[in-house]
Amino acid sequence: MAYDFDLFVIGAGSGGVRAARFAAGFGAKVAVAESRYLGGTCVNVGCVPKKLLVYGAHVADELEQASGYGWTLEEGHFDWATLIANKNREIERLNGIYRNLLVNSAVTLLQGHARLIGSNEVEVDGRRYTAQRILIATGGWPFVPDIPGKDLAITSNEAFYLKTLPRRVLVVGGGYIAVEFAGIFQGLGAETSLVYRGDLFLRGFDGSVRQHLKDELEKRGLHLQFNSDIKRIDQQADGSLKATLEDGRELFADCILYATGRRPMLDDLGLENTGVELDERGYIRVDEQYQTTEPSILAIGDVIGRVQLTPVALAEGMAVARRLFKQDQYRPVDYRNIPTAVFSQPPIGTVGLSEEQALEAGHEVKIFESRFRPMKLTLTDVQEKTLIKLVVDAQTDRVLGCHMVGPDAGEIIQGLGVALKAGATKQQFDETIGVHPTAAEEFVTLRTPTR
Ligand SMILES: Cc1cc2nc3c(=O)[nH]c(=O)nc-3n(C[C@H](O)[C@H](O)[C@H](O)COP(=O)(O)OP(=O)(O)OC[C@H]3O[C@@H](n4cnc5c(N)ncnc54)[C@H](O)[C@@H]3O)c2cc1C
Repeated sequence: MAYDFDLFVIGAGSGGVRAARFAAGFGAKVAVAESRYLGGTCVNVGCVPKKLLVYGAHVADELEQASGYGWTLEEGHFDWATLIANKNREIERLNGIYRNLLVNSAVTLLQGHARLIGSNEVEVDGRRYTAQRILIATGGWPFVPDIPGKDLAITSNEAFYLKTLPRRVLVVGGGYIAVEFAGIFQGLGAETSLVYRGDLFLRGFDGSVRQHLKDELEKRGLHLQFNSDIKRIDQQADGSLKATLEDGRELFADCILYATGRRPMLDDLGLENTGVELDERGYIRVDEQYQTTEPSILAIGDVIGRVQLTPVALAEGMAVARRLFKQDQYRPVDYRNIPTAVFSQPPIGTVGLSEEQALEAGHEVKIFESRFRPMKLTLTDVQEKTLIKLVVDAQTDRVLGCHMVGPDAGEIIQGLGVALKAGATKQQFDETIGVHPTAAEEFVTLRTPTR
């Protein structure tokens, strides 16, 4: 049977665009349908605008530290509307770049909601298209628990478009998005609290990292409310919001942001017209090669719920394009040692196993840890400390994990990701000459195990 397309991609986000462009580059006839925004979550309501707002918040630190370096500044004034307008302009520019990337790769771009009609057929805005293969790359969507007054709260999607900077913000959640938004609002001058139902935020990260960040955020005046959960939200007569906690306490805010996880975006996707099955968590079930339970349909990115990060969606998109249209270049995605950052203030950079994961996996570990005041702060009154930690296998000397909380942690950890991928040992770290004077050199000068 002759199909309209070799590959029909649903979703022009990180994974979908990568798969479509490369498949077209390998000679396939490709279409992409996008219902909302080109570039997906990352470009529009994720990594990119988030990082721009983090930069904005970080300026406050620079201003605070300036006097130690002899600068006298007039009192600064921050204008939220300017930051958001400039951010929006940059996002529009990126949307255009994504459009060009697709069009210049000869991908047919269809703007509209795509719905599966069958195992080889998709409908977009009333028109039907057939394809030999269909790739679902529809990403995720914020999940807000069903409590009374939940409609009064916002999610990260709306936070990027607030008209004004709220005076008091309550961020709910303990994942990286909650922590990052708390840092943004607090850095920009809002009185900010973070409410999380667990003992400590950032579950899955190294224990020392979590505790260190908690201490640093508290030093900055962020109100951390762990072991707390919101029972209901009510609007006050003056328009502000009252959050009643499970334990009966009441918190007041002008904005309540829920960052309590994300669900796969499957709305009106028509999966019921195909043999695609979901896994026990509700994500699309795929095998090692992103094949769903319907032979002609594949899925990648956040919608399969593996590692929900843009570079991972990109790698999966590339793997699918190669597997389908350039077999000789196919390489499976390596999910081990994925470096990540949390753009909190100070930021976290991490790659490899946490101490807890290493112990759980049966490693006998040596821990190297250092806490120090970064040089940049020595001429200022800021008492922030940087944490650097290595988790090493005591038997093989392999470095299992590198962790950092401190300025530029994300930038620093990228290079260490290469070292871990190459299987570096602690001895090789020790034999590497440091870059002096930097915070990063601590990673190669940690001589004595702390435990
Ligand atoms: C606030 C926030 C901050 C983040 N920060 C980072 C970060 O710093 N670093 C990092 O690596 N990752 C970050 N992420 C995660 C990252 O954005 C995602 O992992 C990544 O975007 C996933 O790519 P994807 O291709 O799976 O889906 P997406 O990028 O979400 O793309 C899916 C696309 O499909 C479209 N779509 C959905 N359904 C349909 C349909 N039926 N028809 C047509 N189109 C459809 C959507 O409109 C969307 O454009 C962040 C996420 C959020 C929410």
